[in-house]
Amino acid sequence: MSDEKEKEKKEEGGVKKPRDLRQEVTDKLVEALDKGEIPWNKPWESLELGMPRNMVSGREYTGANSLILMLEQRDRGHKDPRYGTFKQINELGGKVTRGEKGIPVEFWGKEPFYQRRDTSIKYLDRAYKVFSEDRDVVHIGGFKDSTSTLAICPRELKVHHQDKVLTWDEAHKTLDRITARTYVVFNVEQCTDLEKLPPLILPDYKIPTNERAERIMAAMQKDSLGFAEHPEHAFYSPKRDEVSLPPRQSFKTVEGYYGTALHEIGHATGAAQRLNREGITGGHRFGSEGYAKEELRAEIFSAFMAVQTGIPHDMTQHQAYVKNWSEVLKKDKHEIFRAAAEAGKAVDYVLAKERDLQIDHTRESTVTMENAQVDQVSSEKQKVADPSQRTGPTNNTVTFKVEQERQHPVLDVPKENMPDLPRIPVRHNRNLER
Ligand SMILES: [Zn+2]
Repeated sequence: MSDEKEKEKKEEGGVKKPRDLRQEVTDKLVEALDKGEIPWNKPWESLELGMPRNMVSGREYTGANSLILMLEQRDRGHKDPRYGTFKQINELGGKVTRGEKGIPVEFWGKEPFYQRRDTSIKYLDRAYKVFSEDRDVVHIGGFKDSTSTLAICPRELKVHHQDKVLTWDEAHKTLDRITARTYVVFNVEQCTDLEKLPPLILPDYKIPTNERAERIMAAMQKDSLGFAEHPEHAFYSPKRDEVSLPPRQSFKTVEGYYGTALHEIGHATGAAQRLNREGITGGHRFGSEGYAKEELRAEIFSAFMAVQTGIPHDMTQHQAYVKNWSEVLKKDKHEIFRAAAEAGKAVDYVLAKERDLQIDHTRESTVTMENAQVDQVSSEKQKVADPSQRTGPTNNTVTFKVEQERQHPVLDVPKENMPDLPRIPVRHNRNLER
C-alpha cells in the first residue's frame, strides 16, 4: 500500500496504521525460500477437499488470496477449505473460537462514483444520497434517510464533480474506481455453531488424472499448441509454440509425465496469442531475472492445477531457482501478488479451453451419432500421444484482450499489480478470436 493511501486512511479517522498484507506475505515466503524450502510445494497434500473457497458463496478465492489460503491451510493443518469473514460467520449462526487468529486476504471491489465524497448527485437541482442502482432505476433518498425513498430513471439525474456536470453513464465511465481492502477470514474449523453452513461440494476427481491430463493436452493442441518428443529435456519453445517432453517411459511415474506436461503447458499460456505474458514474449535467457519470474508463474500454475485436477507436479526439481525467487520477491512486495494473479489467469485459460473441447464434443455428438464424441476423444488422444501427428504452429496473432475492460483508474496499486477481480470468462474471448 502506498504512503498516499495510508495517509488517506488515517485522515478518514482510522487511527490504526493499516497492515501491509503484501509485505507480510512476501516476508513469510522469503523466509521459507532462504531456508531452501519451496513454500508452494505439494499443496494438494492438505487440500484433498479442493481449492480454498468462501463458506457462504462457495466461490473459490483467486490469485494471491488462493495462494495465501492454500499455504495457511497446509501450515495450520485444516482439512476444510472453506473460509469466511467475521460477519459471514455470524450470519451463519456461528462464532469464532476464542484465541483463533484469522488470515488477512485482499479484496478488490468497484467503488461506484456516487460513493465518492467529491461527487454529488442532483435531481431537479436538489442533492440526494444514492442507496443503490438497478438496471434502469436509481434508488435515492435524503441524507438522513435510512432507506431509499425515491426510484428515479438515471437519465433524470445529474452528477456534479469538481466544475463538471456529467450524466449518469458518463460518471460511471470516468469516475468509478477500483479499490483494494484487506479483510480477515477464518477457516470453518476455527469456528463453532455454524448452523446455517451450506454443504461442502467436493471436487470432481472422478475422472482419472491421466484421462484429465490427456483431455487438457488435447484441448491445448486444439488451441494450436504443438507437442513433440525430446530425448532428455522438457521445455516450451515460444518460437515453435511447442511443448517438448522426454519419452513417457523415461519418467518414473505416469503422474510425473503428466505433471511435467502440465507445467510446460503453463509456460505455453504466456504466448503472444494467448495471455501474452512478458516472461514468455520477452525472450529472457536462462538464469536471468525474467526467466526466474516466469518460472515462478509456471510453478504457482502447477500448484493451482494440482489442486484443481489432482495431477501433481514435483517442484523440488526447481530447487535451482530458490535463490533467484528470494531475490525477486525481496525487491518488490507486489511481485508474488502479480505472479499468483497471472498464474490464476493461466489456470482459467487452460480450464476454459478444456471446457470448450467438451462443449464442442457435445455439439458434435448431438448432430451426428452418439459415438461421434467417443471417436473424437480417442482420435484427439492419439494425436497427443503421437507427436508425428501434431499440428504445426499457426500464424494466429490475435492478442488476448482480457485487459481491455479494465479502464477504471486504480487507487494505489499499479495496474499490472491488480489481481483478477473484474475477470471476463476466457471463453467469451473466443468471439474476439474469430
Ligand atoms: Zn518451467
